[in-house]
Amino acid sequence: MAAVDTAKLYNTETRRMEAIAPGQPDGLLRIYCCGPTVYHYAHIGNFRTFLVQDVLRRLLLAMGYRLRFIRNITDVDDKTIRGAQRERTSLGAFTQKWTDIFHGDCDALNILRPDGEPRATEHIAEQIAMVEALIRKGHAYATADGSVYFRLSSFPVYGRLSGVDVGQLAPQANDTGETANLADEYGRDSVSDFALWKAHKAEDGDIFWESPWGKGRPGWHIECSAMSMKYLGETIDLHGGGIDLCFPHHENEIAQAECVTGKPFVRHWFHSEHLQVEGQKMSKSLGNLLTLMDLKGRGYAPDGVRYALLSGHYRQILNFTFSGLDAARSALQKLRTKVAQLRSTAEGNAADYSQKTETIPQKIATYRHFAAAIEALKNDLNIPKCLGEIFSVLNRTAAADRQFFEELRSIFFILGIEIFSDTDPNRAPSVPDAIAALAAQRWEAKQNKNFGEADRLRQVLAEKGWDVVDGKDSYDLEPNGR
Ligand SMILES: [Zn+2]
Repeated sequence: MAAVDTAKLYNTETRRMEAIAPGQPDGLLRIYCCGPTVYHYAHIGNFRTFLVQDVLRRLLLAMGYRLRFIRNITDVDDKTIRGAQRERTSLGAFTQKWTDIFHGDCDALNILRPDGEPRATEHIAEQIAMVEALIRKGHAYATADGSVYFRLSSFPVYGRLSGVDVGQLAPQANDTGETANLADEYGRDSVSDFALWKAHKAEDGDIFWESPWGKGRPGWHIECSAMSMKYLGETIDLHGGGIDLCFPHHENEIAQAECVTGKPFVRHWFHSEHLQVEGQKMSKSLGNLLTLMDLKGRGYAPDGVRYALLSGHYRQILNFTFSGLDAARSALQKLRTKVAQLRSTAEGNAADYSQKTETIPQKIATYRHFAAAIEALKNDLNIPKCLGEIFSVLNRTAAADRQFFEELRSIFFILGIEIFSDTDPNRAPSVPDAIAALAAQRWEAKQNKNFGEADRLRQVLAEKGWDVVDGKDSYDLEPNGR
């Protein structure tokens, strides 16, 4: 009897490996992933999560699953509001700028666009309706200032995803990480109750929406419950996010959704681990929140960055280092060289094989050459094992047939790497670190509308022999011959 072709993945909630399967008779796999807050560049830790999700999605597509993949955009919170105010622009204009930059980075990293990308500010009515339902059912209450809180004591199974002990809970931070005195300030019944709706404060200026509780804005957690329900229904098959979202964000999503519907919110939780940079936790204070722009500025092409960020198992902390990035770049080079050799010596109908890996490949019934590589992916998305298998097959292969190339194409579609490329995007002119750093500073100044400083740095760069060519979302450096 033929085995059913399914992918297996660790479920954070059940703490077991489970087959990925649609829960509804229509056979559609419903996937929701928490997206970025659009107030700055996403850093490579964020992208590690989005890349892992992208490979999972590509694997499922190549296996023939039908899926709907939704990833939201958080475009209202303290950080986006402060950013818009700092730049004296509207919240919409501010978040659109950063959404465009995020999209540019995703495209550069070859992350497929989601099937739907709902924004929090475009779903205020849905979020208000959900808060009203929670109040009606006794799970939430309004305070005197016009905020609404979720009553944690009304949901006894709270904490089952992360294993957090409700009795030990400290006050939940607001979205700027402040916890002090919030309970007193807002009159919460319990310090661990979290905000569903936040009353307007003077410092929010003209950014607010009308609600049954007065002017205000949604709390962060409610958007994911409301938007996933709108686009995917009451129960989602798979919900993804970085491990840092497990508590409180995902616990809160569960509480909100299940108290409204009385049904399970998510069947399978999928979390990816943290990223470190050179052995250290990434943080603003250490100045190591690397972005794709930083890495491009140092002469690294995005496909090498993609390879490096995928090179560890998603359930293990990945230590991102520049030597690792160099190793990723040379590994890619080796792969492409070997594949080009095999193509140049191929015979018959394999010789004209030139299919790019950007479109979804035909489902392959049986992998003859790369069975172990594909099995590694189907078994808890083991990308490092898959890469190891690919190298060992390539190393022992002297001649390749058509099926070989079809399988190769399928696997590299899943990994999201163009393997049949004749040009190597990593062979960019190498820009000295000091120049790259100046260019990154100039771009930052320009993004912050500090045009005087941006012009000054452009001049400095020109004198050092480099011209800056600005695109919409990024820039290039070209030697000017000085
Ligand atoms: Zn979320």
